[in-house]
Amino acid sequence: MSEKTPFYITTPIYYPSGNPHIGHCYSTIACDCVARMKRMQGFDVMFLTGTDEHGQKIEKKAAEEGMTPKEYVDGIVANFKKLWSTLGISYDRYIRTTDDYHIESVQKIFKKLYDTGYIYKSAYKGKYCTPCESFWTESQLVDGKCPDCGREVTDASEEAYFFKLSQFAPKLKELLLDEQKDFLNPKSRVNEMINNFIEPGLQDLCVSRTSFKWGIPVDFDEGHIVYVWIDALSNYITALGYLNDRYNDYDKYWPADMHVMAKEIVRFHSLIWPAILMALGEPLPKKVYGHGWITFGDGGKMSKSKGNVVDPFILSERYGVDSLRYHLLREMVFGSDCPYSNEQMFNRYNSDLANDLGNLVSRTVAMIEKYFGGTLPVDKDFNDSDEELLSMTDELPAFVDETFSSLRFSEGLEKIFRTIARANKYIDENEPWILAKDEAKKGRLAAVLYNLLDTVRRCAILLSPVMPHICPEIFEQIGADESVTTWEASKTRHALKADVTVKKGRVLFPRIDIEKELEELDAMSRPARELPSEPMKEITNFDNFAALDLRAVKVLSCEKVPKSDKLLKFIVDDGFGERQVLSGIAKYYEPEQLVGKTLGMIINLAPRKMMGLESNGMIMSVRDGDKFRVVEFGDDIKAGADIS
Ligand SMILES: [Zn+2]
Repeated sequence: MSEKTPFYITTPIYYPSGNPHIGHCYSTIACDCVARMKRMQGFDVMFLTGTDEHGQKIEKKAAEEGMTPKEYVDGIVANFKKLWSTLGISYDRYIRTTDDYHIESVQKIFKKLYDTGYIYKSAYKGKYCTPCESFWTESQLVDGKCPDCGREVTDASEEAYFFKLSQFAPKLKELLLDEQKDFLNPKSRVNEMINNFIEPGLQDLCVSRTSFKWGIPVDFDEGHIVYVWIDALSNYITALGYLNDRYNDYDKYWPADMHVMAKEIVRFHSLIWPAILMALGEPLPKKVYGHGWITFGDGGKMSKSKGNVVDPFILSERYGVDSLRYHLLREMVFGSDCPYSNEQMFNRYNSDLANDLGNLVSRTVAMIEKYFGGTLPVDKDFNDSDEELLSMTDELPAFVDETFSSLRFSEGLEKIFRTIARANKYIDENEPWILAKDEAKKGRLAAVLYNLLDTVRRCAILLSPVMPHICPEIFEQIGADESVTTWEASKTRHALKADVTVKKGRVLFPRIDIEKELEELDAMSRPARELPSEPMKEITNFDNFAALDLRAVKVLSCEKVPKSDKLLKFIVDDGFGERQVLSGIAKYYEPEQLVGKTLGMIINLAPRKMMGLESNGMIMSVRDGDKFRVVEFGDDIKAGADIS
């Protein structure tokens, strides 16, 4: 048996400064889909994902939560892993940059680059915020001030190590322009890198810091920690065992076949990362793919702070993991941003999954049960009119391989679903319900249903990397055993047994009532209402209310009650005459603030004594937490006016 060909694919390592959201899902689902397809095709796949856990932001977040940075990231990493498990992500390895073996490798890489002269010591100059102990670049400042606390910043410098990125400019340009290598996709990003970064002149890169602690220590210079680049980007090789003993897979899997990421970090992967590898004398990854962002209504980047996060856990639970995977892969056109809305997802689900695919499977299986008791006869009359559907299906495997391998999932899926739509039309053209009425046409009926079943089989094989949970159910319903559901078998016509037996199962994609679901999701996303601190009282009858005499009163005088820090003593005009009333509001009002005011009052409460003084009635007020106000009317309301 020949050795399987290795295939190495990576997601970026995510920054766990907050919990994962749908914005993190696309790169990971895309990689998972490619990894699953390559495994089906017989490759020895290594699919890596992980988390980039160092840095000042995490150090600060942890401090705010009263935790160590490691405790903080442990909690978030658990949530990332939970999400990947929910979404059916079949990663082979998960790297955390806080793992010991990674730390060991990064220290060795840093030392190696220092020893070979690619890293040198100099001074990092920037804008410094003293209270935040943070350096900022000019472009990070907000109105010239610290983006974190808004205070003034000052010019400052600290001793730091630099990587000679500038030296690699010509080689990087050559790499990016090499048509043969086709290193960076989409092509539009190549010009962006060259025009925006290489042509203006690449600067050397500051690769260490002394102003914070949460990072990998530079082991030959105390106080310095490795800053971002060498720590994060190296994960792709340390995870294989480069300069560590934890793994022994570097020779087998490196160079990576595909690094996949969102567009904002393409620069790090197509300039900094290749330069680091060149300096180390190691081979470069074969391909870098930068996809667009999932965006929301306003076209802005997916962001947690806008409160419009669509929860992937909720979507998966309510509509199926595979539906979410399908939707994201079908909608995202590689290289472009993809607007996301639940409504759009439901429309796509209803049209493609419920109407086209789900219907094709259930109609075909139901007809075989109805007309043949579930098992097709061996004798079938195929004819030339079958050719269009069959040859359309023949084209799929190569096209899907090509498009999925280059992250053009939407094109591949579109073509699969055009074939599924063609199969539905084939039913209408052949009218099995008419054929079934004529005993002489049983052979033709069997051929039509068999062609449908086999088209479903071939399409479902190609859809398995996208919908890994549902496709096995489809295979079960159409009676396709493992031998005919391999990637190879998708290339073969009529691989199903001639006397195949189907088995009706559950409805695979129940239709979504879009209006109803949108309303329910909306209700779920609304913040829980904060209830008033006073619970609601029991219902009373109108007479109880009518028995209270509520009036507007004018405050004639108001003074503090001696020896009480709570009580104010009022003389008010209630329209009939003057009365004395006490109120415990001295904390909120100075007496002189209230003189002359027209307030609301209950005037027929039985008199009460407080601090030896009689109170006749009660001034109306409202309290909301710390806030307190008397109920007040305008000057034009006469004393004695009735309140109802
Ligand atoms: Zn600050």
